[in-house]
Amino acid sequence: MTTIVRDFLNTLQGKGDTSHSVEPQMQRVLDQLAALHGEPVENLDATAARAQPSPADAVAALLREQSRSTAPESLVPGVRSVDRRVPGAAGPLPARVYTPAGAGPFPVIVYFHGGGWVIADKDTYDAGARGLCATASAVVVSVDYRRAPEHRFPAAWDDALAAFEWVAGHAREFNANPGQIALAGESAGGNLAIATAIAVRNRGNSPVAAVLAVYPVAQTGNDETESYDDSAQAKPLNKPMIAWFLDKLLGKPEDKSDTRLDLINADLVGLPPVTIINAEIDPLRSDGEMLEAALKEAGVEVERKVYTGVTHEFFGMAAVLDKAREAQHFAGDRLKHAFGRPVQPRFHAVLPRTPTDDDGRPVVKLKAVGYAAKHSFSDLKRFEFERDAAREDEIEIEVLYCGVCHSDIHQVKNEWSNTVYPCVPGHEVVGRVTRVGASVSRHAVGDLVGVGCMIDSCRHCEPCQAGDENYCEGPNSWLATYNGPMIPAAKAPGKRNTYGRDNTFGGYSNLLVVHEDFALRIPANLRPEVAAPILCAGVTTYSPLKHWGVKSGDKVGILGFGGLGDLAAKIALAMGAEVTLFTSTEEKLEEAARLGAKGVLETDEAALQALKGSFDFILSTIPQKHDINPFIPLLKRDRTICVVGALESMPSVNNQEVAFHRKNVAGSLIGSLHDTQEILDFCAEHDIGPEIEVIAIEAVNEAIKHVIKGEVRFRYVIDMASLADATE
Ligand SMILES: [Zn+2]
Ligand SMILES: [Zn+2]
Repeated sequence: MTTIVRDFLNTLQGKGDTSHSVEPQMQRVLDQLAALHGEPVENLDATAARAQPSPADAVAALLREQSRSTAPESLVPGVRSVDRRVPGAAGPLPARVYTPAGAGPFPVIVYFHGGGWVIADKDTYDAGARGLCATASAVVVSVDYRRAPEHRFPAAWDDALAAFEWVAGHAREFNANPGQIALAGESAGGNLAIATAIAVRNRGNSPVAAVLAVYPVAQTGNDETESYDDSAQAKPLNKPMIAWFLDKLLGKPEDKSDTRLDLINADLVGLPPVTIINAEIDPLRSDGEMLEAALKEAGVEVERKVYTGVTHEFFGMAAVLDKAREAQHFAGDRLKHAFGRPVQPRFHAVLPRTPTDDDGRPVVKLKAVGYAAKHSFSDLKRFEFERDAAREDEIEIEVLYCGVCHSDIHQVKNEWSNTVYPCVPGHEVVGRVTRVGASVSRHAVGDLVGVGCMIDSCRHCEPCQAGDENYCEGPNSWLATYNGPMIPAAKAPGKRNTYGRDNTFGGYSNLLVVHEDFALRIPANLRPEVAAPILCAGVTTYSPLKHWGVKSGDKVGILGFGGLGDLAAKIALAMGAEVTLFTSTEEKLEEAARLGAKGVLETDEAALQALKGSFDFILSTIPQKHDINPFIPLLKRDRTICVVGALESMPSVNNQEVAFHRKNVAGSLIGSLHDTQEILDFCAEHDIGPEIEVIAIEAVNEAIKHVIKGEVRFRYVIDMASLADATE
C-alpha cells in the first residue's frame, strides 16, 4: 500500500492509525484533547500554534473530570521546583530546577522539552521533567531554548550546549554532584540531548554519564520511514505537523543534513550509554529504531523500549497513564544505574590533538574568575582572566575549596620581593575534575583532586628524578601554583623561562588547569574543605617529621601553635610521638592539652630548663623571623631542630650550643608530590585534619587581617561557590 493510499484510508476512517490500537487510558487523553477543539497547527502561524491546547492540557482536563488535583506538587510528591534563569548562547534562558526528596548532593539531569523547536516550553513538559526527577532521584534542570521561526536552526542547539556547560560547571549551586551529570529530552528535546552529548564529546572528552532520548527526532531527511507511514495521521503528532515544524526551523534545505539534526549520520563513537523510549503510535518511532542501530554500530551502549498502544507525548502522562509511569521508572532506573557507576572519561578515538599555537600553547582559552591583588598595598578583588584549556596531559578542575595560607599573605604583600602582579593566590586547592586531556590516565572526570604549592617541575634534575620535586634544581626550579616559576627568567641561566609563563594564577578562582601528575587524590573519607590545608600546611609539617625519622615514642617539640603548628602536633601525635607545643599565648595551653599534647609557654624559662636535652626533634612553625636559640639546648645529642615557617634571615645561631652536642639546625620547604599523597592518606586513615573555618571569598580580606594578627588557631578555607555571588 502506498503512503498516499494509506493516508487516504486513514482520512476516510477518521482515525490516526491503521495497524495499531490505542489502549484505553491513552484513548481517554486523546478524547479529552479532541474535546478541547484545537486547530491543526499546520494551518496556523507559530503564535497561534503555541496557543493551541496541548496534550498536557488534555491530561489536566481528564484529572478535573476525575475530581483530582492538577497541582504538579501533588501529582509527583516529594519533588520541589523553582524557576530561575541560566545563561544560554545569546542571553539568559528561563529554566525550572526540580529537586527530589533527600539531602543530596544529587546527580543532575539537563532536560530539554519538545515541541518541534517551534511550540511548547518547560511548562508544557513539566510533568515529564518532574517525573524524571522523582524516578532518577536527581536534580532536573529543564531549560527553555530559543525557538523557530524567530530563531532558526541552530539557535536551539547553541542554547542547549551553552546551558548544559553552564549547569555542569555550576552543579553545586543546585546541590548536585558535577561528577554525575546526564542529558535528557523529549521529541525535539530528545534530539537536543543527543546532539549536545556529541558536542560535549567533541571537546575532547565528556563528563556525561548517560543520555535519555524520549521519542527523539533522529533525522529529517527521510519522511517515508515505516512509522511516518503507519502513523502519518496519528495524534497528537502527525506527519504534516513535522513538515510544518521543519519549515519554521530550517534556514536552508541543507540544514537537514547537518549532523545536529541528522543524528543517525553523525559520528556517535564514544557517547555515554543512551536510553531511547518510543511510543508505538508515533511518526518518530522509526527514528528511534534507526538511532538505536546507528548507536550500536558506533559501539555505544544503548537500550530502547517501545511502549505499545500509546502515542507521542505519552511520557509526561504518568498521572493518568500506567504506561507513562512504567516508562518514567524505566528511564529513572537506567539513569540511576549510570550515575552509580564511576564516570569513565570517554576519549574520542579520532579527535584531533588540542590545537596549539607556534609556542605550543593551547589555542582554546577558558574564562576564569578569581580574586587578585593588583599591588602590594591593595586588597584582593574580583578579577576576570583566561586560562589555557587542558593540554593532552592536563586536567581541568572546578575549584571547590581553597585554604588561606600564610604564604598567600606574604606573596600578596610582596614580602619576599618577588611578587608578580596581578597576584591570584591559593595553593591549598580541592576541586572536582571537569575535563581531562586525551592522554590523562591518573584522573577521571568527576574525581575529587587536590593541588598544592606546585603545578610542574623540570622533571630531569636529580631531585626531580628522586621524587623531590619541591627541591627541583632545573633552570627555573618548580612552577608554583601561583606567582610563576620559583626562579623567574630574570634570575635563571640565560634569562630563560622553560615553563613559558612568568605568572601563574592560583586557587582563589573558579577553575584550575594542571598537569595530571601534580594533582593528588583526595581520599573518600576526607571532607574536601578539611583536605585543602593538608596540601600545604599538612605536607610542610609532615615532610620534615618523616625525613628526620620521627617514630612512635619520640619526644617532639613544636614551636608555634597556629594553623601549621596545629596540624604538626596532630600528625606527630598520630605517628605515636609525645608532643610538646611551645606557644606565646597562654590561652593556647588548654588547647594543646585538648589535643593530647603538653603546652609550654615560650617565655617560661623554668619549664624550658626542665626540658633540656629531652627532644628527639623540634619543628618550628612560627611564620616569621624568630630566635631559636632558647630551644637548641632542649634537643638530645645529634638531633635536629627544623624551621619551616619562616623564609627569611633569622637571628644568628649560637654555635656553641650546636657544636657541643653535635646538633643540627635545618630547614625544609613544603613537600614532594609523594609525601603530599602520603599525608592526605595518613590524615584520612587517622581521622585527623586541620581546624578550619569556612568563609565566603568576600570575607577573605578580613580573614587575612586576623591571620596577620595571629588571632586564629585554625585555617580559613574559602568556599569557592561564593565566587558566583561576589561582586567586587
Ligand atoms: Zn602554603
Ligand atoms: Zn627538577
